[in-house]
Amino acid sequence: MNSKEQFAFEKVFLELPEQLKQIPNLGEVASYIPELSHVNPEKFGIHLITADKQNFAYGDSNEKFSIQSIAKVLSLTLAFKLEEEKLWERIGVEPSGNAFNSLFRLEQEKGIPRNPFINAGALLICDVLVSRLNQPKEEFLDFVRELVGNPKINYCERIALSEKEHGYRNASMVNFMKSYNNINNDVEEVLDFYFHLCSLEMSCAELAQAVTYLSSDGMNLLTQKEVISPSKTKRINAIMQLCGFYDEAGEFAFEVGLPGKSGVGGGIIAIHPLKYTVAVWSPKLNEKGNSYRGMKILEFFTTQTASSVF
Ligand code: GLN
Repeated sequence: MNSKEQFAFEKVFLELPEQLKQIPNLGEVASYIPELSHVNPEKFGIHLITADKQNFAYGDSNEKFSIQSIAKVLSLTLAFKLEEEKLWERIGVEPSGNAFNSLFRLEQEKGIPRNPFINAGALLICDVLVSRLNQPKEEFLDFVRELVGNPKINYCERIALSEKEHGYRNASMVNFMKSYNNINNDVEEVLDFYFHLCSLEMSCAELAQAVTYLSSDGMNLLTQKEVISPSKTKRINAIMQLCGFYDEAGEFAFEVGLPGKSGVGGGIIAIHPLKYTVAVWSPKLNEKGNSYRGMKILEFFTTQTASSVF
């Protein structure tokens, strides 16, 4: 990045504390998964890594939280890498316009999920990985640990269990897809894998690092190894732009203007291809299930630095 951009980024990070005071901490912490409700709602962290490896951070950026649906970007990456174009025979790439846990379109479209980021689509991706990997949970964890460069990244069994005990909708989606022969494995095994990947715990710093390949044509900035091809990177970013925020994807594009993905733990990742990755965390969610302050701060950031993709 040039010195003008560097100055703009530094300035915005210095202004963050003042800016945060002006954004009321609205919304609610997710409680439909009871274990998620125990988080301190005042937490806030942000970490940004530029394509030339500069780091900017503020707040609770090293504190781990439940990444929830952000993990769907990582599972899609591994499934796309293993399955290549065949993947798109069983799943679409269109925005759903519905909530992440909606069953509505799944019935209309005969068990083919609209995209890999709504729950139905992420569950289908889990089915792909259960077929492809000998030990899905272990091998997926190894993949994530290598992306972050931290062998201690782990699932949270407490949260995975809490999701399992309350995962009626997710169970209904897998069963429904199975009735259309679009799930090849045992329903319980697919669900168990899905609940575990949603329970992954990472900090903003770790998340921003994990997805550096999405701002660098597929290459992990830490290991300098190719995670996926430039063409697949482009496609994953495109799906994030269109589907990463469910029925608020338009609003995120409108306000922030970057490909991104949210999770009900209050985390958001966003990508500026060839420029930077950023992860932000603030647990209170708006009515669409996306971090309220997280979205506001990213809007402030891309506006002040004039660095959206549009
Ligand atoms: N584990 C959550 C669920 O299945 C993930 C939802 C999300 O983060 N949007 O409901």
